[in-house]
Amino acid sequence: MNLYGIKKVDLEIFFESIGEKKFKATQVYEWLYQKKVKDIDQMTNLKKEVREKLKDSFSLEISKIIQRQIDVDVEKYLFELEDHEKIEAVLMRHSYGLSVCVSSQVGCNMGCAFCESGRRKKVRNLETYELVGQILAIEEIINERISSVVIMGIGEPFDNFEHVMDFITIINDSKGLQIGSRHITVSTCGIVPKIKEFASFPLQVNLALSLHAPRDELRSKLMPINHRYPIKEVMDAIKEYIEKTNRRVTIEYILLKNVNDTKECALELVHLIKGMNVYVNLIPYNETNHIEFKKSDSSTVSEFYDVLQKNHVNVTIRREFGSKISAACGQLRSEKML
Ligand code: SAH
Repeated sequence: MNLYGIKKVDLEIFFESIGEKKFKATQVYEWLYQKKVKDIDQMTNLKKEVREKLKDSFSLEISKIIQRQIDVDVEKYLFELEDHEKIEAVLMRHSYGLSVCVSSQVGCNMGCAFCESGRRKKVRNLETYELVGQILAIEEIINERISSVVIMGIGEPFDNFEHVMDFITIINDSKGLQIGSRHITVSTCGIVPKIKEFASFPLQVNLALSLHAPRDELRSKLMPINHRYPIKEVMDAIKEYIEKTNRRVTIEYILLKNVNDTKECALELVHLIKGMNVYVNLIPYNETNHIEFKKSDSSTVSEFYDVLQKNHVNVTIRREFGSKISAACGQLRSEKML
């Protein structure tokens, strides 16, 4: 087991199982996430014998960065995992702090037509420590604190539910990286049973739904998952989630030229979300070499935005980051594969 993948409660159980006091888990967390030591032997307030037991049960490797691309306000990192698989994470510099977009799987099985990540099927889920490792490795390189995390990189987080939830618990821990739950966002393509399960997750984490089309026929063409969980079922699950958690949900909508960017689509979207506590984030499409979709013209984006706004929908247009360095989901890894 890797120590970076262990929740504090589980570490407490470990210490109790070896006849030690459970507060030692807190001490270990402070060493890992505040003092950031790289070796169990540096945890000097633990007796040698306890350190040995820790070493017998846990390793302390972190994900290795093999490439870094820097643009003005965005940096892209390529990681090589222990089995030589590659994933990527993106750092974004906002006025309010630094955020990182992490990957949740190697490859992705969702097969969205516009997305680079899905060009390679899922190889495996990321382990919890590999999720935590993306944050730690980036913080180490930049020597700055990351204050928010979005789980919107390669993969479908709700297809790796348990590890993603443990990851959130660890980075949110008051003795861990202390990333506030309201500064953590999970984005899903709409896996209905997991949306329902997520509604009972104890932390106040944000949920984003990749909707991208207001009607089934179109959404199914763009997102095969829609055959399994059509729009009505997804929206019902989102309503249930909002009811239960009282939290506002983000609806993500990529604007693809002449595909889903018409005035009719905008009006259908208004109708679909009427009365719901959601806000719409319009995403300018990041074009890729291998996929034929084009981004909508800026005038079309403005018109789409205006329709929503006139109909009292809360709407923003996502700021474009890193299009120069292929920062959209899966693009860097994909270049490396060719
Ligand atoms: N599987 C999850 C999270 C990963 S994708 C999900 O579907 O939400 C994160 C977001 O990036 C999704 O909204 C996805 O549709 C979007 N995305 C994928 N490729 C993109 C591209 N080329 N340009 C802009 N957004 C993209």
